[in-house]
Amino acid sequence: MTKLKEILALVRSINADEFHVQITNGGRLDDVYKELLFLSEKMESKKNRTDLIIDHISNCYAGDFFHKLPISDAQDELDVFCMGFNTYIEELKAVMVSKNLLEVINKKLVEEKERSNQLVRVKDEFMSNMSHEIRTPLNGILGFTDLLLKNTSLDSEAKKQLDSIKISGDILLVIINDILDLLKIESGQITLRQEPFNLRGLAQFIYDTFSIQMREKEIDFNVSIDKNVPAVFIGDSIRISQILFNLVSNAFKFNHLKGKVELKIRLDREENGYHFVEISVKDTGIGIPSDKINSIFNPFIQVSNDTSRKYGGTGLGLAVIKKIITIMNGEIHVKSKLGTGSKFTTIIPLLKSTSDPFVFQPVISNNQETILANDDKVKVLVAEDNHINQLLMRTVLKKFNFDCTIVANGKLAIEALKNERFDIILMDLMMPEMNGFEATSVIRNLEDVEKKNIPIIALTAVVTGSDIDACISLGIDKYLSKPFESSELYKMIIELVQSNKT
Ligand code: ADP
Repeated sequence: MTKLKEILALVRSINADEFHVQITNGGRLDDVYKELLFLSEKMESKKNRTDLIIDHISNCYAGDFFHKLPISDAQDELDVFCMGFNTYIEELKAVMVSKNLLEVINKKLVEEKERSNQLVRVKDEFMSNMSHEIRTPLNGILGFTDLLLKNTSLDSEAKKQLDSIKISGDILLVIINDILDLLKIESGQITLRQEPFNLRGLAQFIYDTFSIQMREKEIDFNVSIDKNVPAVFIGDSIRISQILFNLVSNAFKFNHLKGKVELKIRLDREENGYHFVEISVKDTGIGIPSDKINSIFNPFIQVSNDTSRKYGGTGLGLAVIKKIITIMNGEIHVKSKLGTGSKFTTIIPLLKSTSDPFVFQPVISNNQETILANDDKVKVLVAEDNHINQLLMRTVLKKFNFDCTIVANGKLAIEALKNERFDIILMDLMMPEMNGFEATSVIRNLEDVEKKNIPIIALTAVVTGSDIDACISLGIDKYLSKPFESSELYKMIIELVQSNKT
């Protein structure tokens, strides 16, 4: 009877199906009892293992991934589950490790980026300073040489010597500009302007620029532009003229006496709204050996070691223009035959402009000193801290017959503007006490509408892209980098003063 009770208790605790199997197999009561006992123990063990698994999973959930679920000898469905779970945990662990690794790498990358940003800032500052330090004295040298060269009482020997100073200074300026350009391009700081410009006007400008060399070297210089080339494009006219200037200047430099130079502009194709303009410069000069032709676009490469002694230059010009052309999504190629000549061809995509570029109406004659009557005197306020440049500005502006007041920093410029009426301000950007950026910002926020809107020209030796952008965003009207041609300054002043008056 007790046995029967035990059996019933066991039956209640186990799966009815398994019990049914035993009964229908016709086993003896003892056998059934043993079987039931075995099943019951098995179930007890399963229950304990299930509890263990639940515990384990809870620990995993709390973050403990380091212990595996135990696998028993039973090799039952719980073991299959445990094996699957252990694999899953292994994979999860691998993902966690990669995630941690990624976090570490990410942190490192953020630190690296910050460090490189800082380096770029330091480089930018260095370029700014270097540019300023070199260009400022050069401005004095070239400016005064220009003024002296206009002095008609000079004897021919003195004039020759002054010409040499001017040529050397100009070359130094080209070298400084090339080095700075290369630095700017390499640090990704070059920004291309997108303004309407007249390509035909640029070609004319290049022709005029080389007219002296044309006569001196008796070079037959020919410029031709296909009729279907639009006059006005949108792009960076300064960079395009830099490209034209470099190619034509090399064609003159590496040419023989009485040689030929041809500048041709034609339309290569129209694609996606862009005109692909082909500019080619062909010369009958010394040519380039075939084994050197691929390296001439690399910085500081000249065809032979005595090139710089014989022809001057640094081997930077082509490297700079190739980089600029690449930034413009253009291309440049060269074909050359030693002793016969070279042909450089560049294709640049340019947007056609629907509007005409602003064309400056010249109000000046060649004799700049006598254009404006005395009662018409333009009143110029100059903010400039360098004494030599102050003297140069005074002399140049006096020659233009302008009235000029010179102050040494931005703070004094604001004071002067508040106390007196001026037509225009020439603002140096790097000055002690208060720089040109700060002073412009204060002026543009003045209450007096006339003073607040006074035209401002930034005259500076600083040439970084960020500085130019800062000038524009502050409301500086024009930007002239030192050293500058006095006639260019004159044009700018007259243009701004006249348009402000009207
Ligand atoms: P640079 O003219 O200042 O030396 P570039 O980068 O403009 O520098 O030119 C690199 C070199 O390529 C020159 O030094 C010269 O050897 C060669 N080269 C460039 N243009 C010509 C040309 N039209 N004819 C012959 N050689 C040229």
